[in-house]
Amino acid sequence: MTKVTEFITQAQGKTLFSIEIIPPVKGQNINELLNGIEPLMEFKPPFVDVTYHREELIDVVGQGGLIERIPIRKRPGTVGICARLMERFKVDAVPHVICGGFTKDETEDVLFDLHYLGIDNVLVLRGDPEKSAGVFKAKLGGHSYASELITQVANMNKGILLHAETEASHTDFCIGIAGYPEKHLDAESLDTDFEHLKRKIELGANYIVTQMFFDNQKYFRFVDRCRSEGITVPIIPGLKPLATKRQLTVLADIFHLEFPQDLIDEAQKCATDKEVRQVGIEWSIQQCKELIAYGAPVLHFYTMGKSDNIAQIAGKFF
Ligand code: FAD
Repeated sequence: MTKVTEFITQAQGKTLFSIEIIPPVKGQNINELLNGIEPLMEFKPPFVDVTYHREELIDVVGQGGLIERIPIRKRPGTVGICARLMERFKVDAVPHVICGGFTKDETEDVLFDLHYLGIDNVLVLRGDPEKSAGVFKAKLGGHSYASELITQVANMNKGILLHAETEASHTDFCIGIAGYPEKHLDAESLDTDFEHLKRKIELGANYIVTQMFFDNQKYFRFVDRCRSEGITVPIIPGLKPLATKRQLTVLADIFHLEFPQDLIDEAQKCATDKEVRQVGIEWSIQQCKELIAYGAPVLHFYTMGKSDNIAQIAGKFF
């Protein structure tokens, strides 16, 4: 399998197209997801990211009518989806690997599954907190920060396993990480966030994918700051076209980002979400034009289960 960084080098400055998909809710048909992204394959993404979701605690009525809290993974199947993607679309899958909900040993098992599948790319993340907890808590015996998980993957790349006494045959994962042009929600300041980002690179990360942003200046400033901090790896912009008026508040809250006033004004003028969707497409096309002119290595779209708007945008460039 080709590494994300190799795809970027091979493109020789040409901007590539890629997407991130989310596993279906447990019980839904995988073919709906695969058929849904099929139109985007026309634009030849060299790789497709697949998110990982930790379990959530839910209340169920147990024996004797007592309420029990049990952990349920609502969107299982990341590794299986990666295998199906590679088989059906002959595309490289980039599974996300998260700290949350995993012990280090469980993580090692997942990494072996990926290695045996021939997957050589992983996006290493801390993971979102459990919804009921609000703040991130590591599982007992698990990692607290993405940096610790990067060390585990980098060690496996050197043939160092958790408990093995002898050196193992080594993996060769290309390690992607997340970066936040508008600061990560939990970070005390942009400065500390950059310190932690730098540390992740020093520990072995090979490229950065940014959180979504709607104002390209945020990405340009982020890249400038990374470069001035000595971070030289590719920085892939993450993009999502606005699709509903509600997203103006929901996305801003969840992802801790600011919408440009011009986009808010255009969306507020719309009578229906169909019109907002069109505004979102046009805004995203403008973002893409600028990002391509700037030399962004890849335009990476968060599909969030929808592909028609992204197909319209990608059709202009790829
Ligand atoms: P980290 O790099 O660990 O940083 C988390 C916070 O801790 C930051 O505020 C950082 O500044 C701070 N920090 C880092 N190291 C230290 C340290 N040593 N001491 C003190 N503070 C520190 N979530 C999922 O659950 N599944 C996914 O598939 C997923 N995919 C994503 C893909 C992308 C491209 C992005 C941008 C995000 C994704 N997320 C996903 C969300 C992500 O998991 C959350 O944003 C999470 O809260 C932070 O993850 P991280 O890897 O950036 O964490």
